[in-house]
Amino acid sequence: MKALSSATQTLKPSSTVAVTARALELKRAGVDVVSMAAGEPDFDTPEHIKDAARAALIAGKTKYTPTLGVPELREAIAEKFKRENSLEYAINQIQVTTGGKQALFNACFALINPGDEVIIPAPFWVTYPEQVRLFGGVPIFVDTRAEDGYQLEVAALAAAVTAKTKMIILCSPSNPSGVVYADSLIEAVMELAEKHDLWVMADEMYEHITYTGKLPVSAAKFNPERVITVNGASKAYSMTGWRIGFVAGPAHVIKAMDAIQGQCTSNANTIAQWATIAALGDSYAYIEMARAAFRERRDAIVTGLNAIGLPTPTPEGAFYVLADTTRIHADETEAAKIILERARVAVVPGTDFRAPGRVRLSYACSLEQIGEAVKRIGALEQT
Ligand code: PMP
Ligand code: GLU
Repeated sequence: MKALSSATQTLKPSSTVAVTARALELKRAGVDVVSMAAGEPDFDTPEHIKDAARAALIAGKTKYTPTLGVPELREAIAEKFKRENSLEYAINQIQVTTGGKQALFNACFALINPGDEVIIPAPFWVTYPEQVRLFGGVPIFVDTRAEDGYQLEVAALAAAVTAKTKMIILCSPSNPSGVVYADSLIEAVMELAEKHDLWVMADEMYEHITYTGKLPVSAAKFNPERVITVNGASKAYSMTGWRIGFVAGPAHVIKAMDAIQGQCTSNANTIAQWATIAALGDSYAYIEMARAAFRERRDAIVTGLNAIGLPTPTPEGAFYVLADTTRIHADETEAAKIILERARVAVVPGTDFRAPGRVRLSYACSLEQIGEAVKRIGALEQT
């Protein structure tokens, strides 16, 4: 039998998806697992968004749309960028995708040649290096430290730039560390990109989930010509299953991404696109409610984990914490296994995020579940 493609032979399956699936499997088998693996808000999608989906269905919006997305949605996205991020995009600079994941995929496909280096601050979301490698790119990691709250040093980033560097990936607020970059840091990264003629992929998926009291600045604000801005409906409006992402950038890049999407998935789900127009319209009451709940949960989990001897920095955004589990086991994969099998709490080992000695816990679950998880992990004997 001839072999699978070399790209798939080195491709790692997503560990966040894998642990989430394992937790679900255990739950279906009747095991009482607290799942802190999944990176998705536990709230239901707000009713006005569901209403818009029902209306779209009744109105027969059940056919293909332009591959870039329905113009009405791209107009709503352009309006969102203007209102929230002070960015001006024409609708041919916006693509609607099947989740943020496909936006990142299309952008990597459009920009990366074999041998191109892509700088990724670590800890990072597991999908970035895998997508870069799929196109023959070489991920170059710049480590940050828990002691500094995972803040990025521009000097460290600059030291990683070579003649082969093509792009920098910024994720703020970050999955998995929760770090939120200061506006001045993003500006400094953009200056670096300018100096070395680099692309910047800015993943702003968690922009509405911050505890800093303000919306972080968009990287594109400093130079829209160099930035591919990725965002989507999944986290901001609790729409993970609807699979709507969107991306904005220079028209020629979006045109290439349109050709890519036109040859693989065509348009994102039509009904979900119409529903997203309602989401982008006015969901601020939901956003405020979710942010307040996440803040309360963040405080509870950080306090709880530190109290049981698992040092955990306080993140300023997203809904994840990275806990130091070396007290449970020096190896984080073993620690995550012990936590799942003996404490019945599903967590993701830090390995694929490049967070050694740590596991990621998602606190997008109830305060009761957080309390129960901390209690169970705290009761584990050191091995
Ligand atoms: N970016 C980040 C940082 C994420 O955590 C996720 C996780 N879902 C995505 C992008 C992709 O989102 P989606 O579910 O819309 O594909
Ligand atoms: N992004 C979420 C996470 O990190 C969802 C799973 C995934 O898409 O990887 O858990």
